[in-house]
Amino acid sequence: MIVPPGSTIGIVGGGQLGRMLSLAAASLGYKCHIYAPDETPPAGEVAAHLTRGRFDDEDALARFAGQVDVCTYEFENIAAGPLSAIVSQVPLYPPRESLEIAQDRLSEKSFVVRQGGRPAPFARVDEAAGLEAALAEIGTPAILKTRRLGYDGKGQARIERPEAAPLAWETVAAAPSLLESFVTFDAEFSILLCRGTDGETVLWDAPRNIHRSGILDRSIVPVEPALQPAVAAAEALARRVAEALDHVGVLALEFFAVGEEALFNEMAPRVHNSGHWTIEGAVSSQFENHIRAICGLPLGATGRTAPRVEMVNLIGRDADDWRTLLAEPGAHLHLYGKRHARPGRKMGHVTRLSA
Ligand code: AMP
Repeated sequence: MIVPPGSTIGIVGGGQLGRMLSLAAASLGYKCHIYAPDETPPAGEVAAHLTRGRFDDEDALARFAGQVDVCTYEFENIAAGPLSAIVSQVPLYPPRESLEIAQDRLSEKSFVVRQGGRPAPFARVDEAAGLEAALAEIGTPAILKTRRLGYDGKGQARIERPEAAPLAWETVAAAPSLLESFVTFDAEFSILLCRGTDGETVLWDAPRNIHRSGILDRSIVPVEPALQPAVAAAEALARRVAEALDHVGVLALEFFAVGEEALFNEMAPRVHNSGHWTIEGAVSSQFENHIRAICGLPLGATGRTAPRVEMVNLIGRDADDWRTLLAEPGAHLHLYGKRHARPGRKMGHVTRLSA
């Protein structure tokens, strides 16, 4: 099905991802309708329509879905009932299966293993006693992560020694979790791909990602030559995963490189922070191609526009430096319009293209 320019795209979630999707959609002649609970969501300021509502309000989501031609999301934690309220009325891309699998760390890891991928050793933890058993199996250091609702290092606790288990269990609020072996990686990188409704799949160059306190600090393309074998293996895996999900839209998979091996960490069935560099650094950005994919249009070229591209997140008060960044020749500044700069909050990003 082709959703032609002029149509209305519904986006569940109103953060910076929705904002950049709306801007890309507007460039192609679409209108966006944002659904988010916030008073002033960053995406609402640049979209044609905004509905304020809770993500678990099935009736409100059903009314919203009735007003759009196709629906996507930038927020992953939509429960099964509200999802049904959408999919019973309008095409939802990425498809429901991609969303449901990626919502749960256990199901995403299990799914990727079935496609031939390898994550760091992990064990399921459902109660305090299970954590002890998992620690005996996995060893330390390890990381305890909630299966659901974690992001930017939230819902995680590092365990250096078995004695720290009770505190870690408290940190994750006794929620169903996974214990993962702590990986001493050479680097982190992600694979960003976009798949169309006809199965056409394009990949961008894989960025190397550097995190600080569990939050993405910067993404750099291309990766250094030593990482190429791990990246090539991860690309092949990502294609298989997208195919098996019959995914439509952008899909991001994050990996740890250990030697020539790529250990799968997690995936996101949506545009991703490590793909922000594609706005200026690639012929077609992740946002544009996501819109093209969900509307059934041909995908745009993903080649790089410069030999080297670096995207740096502006977190908390970093964005206060906007004057300096604007004065820097060639720096592309993006501010998300958020009013309050809390520590750890993503306020904007800057992209630098260089020779
Ligand atoms: P996640 O929420 O799983 O993406 O974790 C956020 C960040 O924490 C990752 O990008 C890594 O930098 C770090 N991290 C997560 N899991 C592990 C692990 N098993 N070993 C080492 N570092 C990790």
